[in-house]
Amino acid sequence: MIKVKTKEQIELMRESALMVSKTLGMVASEIKPGVSTLYLDKLAEEFIRDNGGIPGFLGLYDFPNTLCMSPNAQVVHGIPTDKPLEDGDIISVDCGVILNDFYGDHAYTFEVGAVAEETKKLLQVTKESLYEGIRQLRVGNRVGDVGFAIQNYCEKRGYGIVRELVGHGLGKEMHEDPEMPNYGKRGRGKKFKEGMVVAIEPMVNLGTQKIIQLKDGWTILTADNKPSAHFEHDIAIVDGKPELLSTFKYIYDALGIVSDEEKEFRAN
Ligand code: MG
Ligand code: MG
Repeated sequence: MIKVKTKEQIELMRESALMVSKTLGMVASEIKPGVSTLYLDKLAEEFIRDNGGIPGFLGLYDFPNTLCMSPNAQVVHGIPTDKPLEDGDIISVDCGVILNDFYGDHAYTFEVGAVAEETKKLLQVTKESLYEGIRQLRVGNRVGDVGFAIQNYCEKRGYGIVRELVGHGLGKEMHEDPEMPNYGKRGRGKKFKEGMVVAIEPMVNLGTQKIIQLKDGWTILTADNKPSAHFEHDIAIVDGKPELLSTFKYIYDALGIVSDEEKEFRAN
């Protein structure tokens, strides 16, 4: 059952989303060769607690950490380790918090030092596909319209869309209805309603769409060991249209990137 949110609840959820955004911004400023993902995880946990939040992933389905840290060929759900990041790596960082009793949940894939051109392109296209999907999140459309937009954008460019893991409704539970696959058919699936809040999160592979899971029961890896990217935003449907609750602004501030990509999804 889809739980639509009131305007007041959406404002509370915006605060949860923004705490994740700020945490990712803090992490962005610390990512460099030689730093371990476990170190970044501890910084994130401290940051969230210092700001009055609760790490949303820690203990959820028994996940052991605050951040999912998935380098290179890891798609999602990577467990932080003490292995240092290396020049040329990419690292997907997924973060969840609970604030005001609501979850925030979003993700960004970072470059570590100098990254190969084909990998940079993968990151760019994956992020663009996220916005292609968000554009379809409006009253009158259906879940399949978002999935189709993401799939079409990425597959046209030769990338593999992971099928086994999907976006989701967001609220007092991390995973609410509806499931939001990154593939689909136009005009199919559940209808979008005013007040819905969802996390859209394309997971896109440079090579095959096929994945495997490590014996740790968590880490998802590409079957051909080629890189994978993951970008995720939290979005509400307000006045029939998609409105971003999360932002990559803090990441861009940390990295010195100038971007107006979020402008079309902001209320005036
Ligand atoms: Mg999610
Ligand atoms: Mg996430």
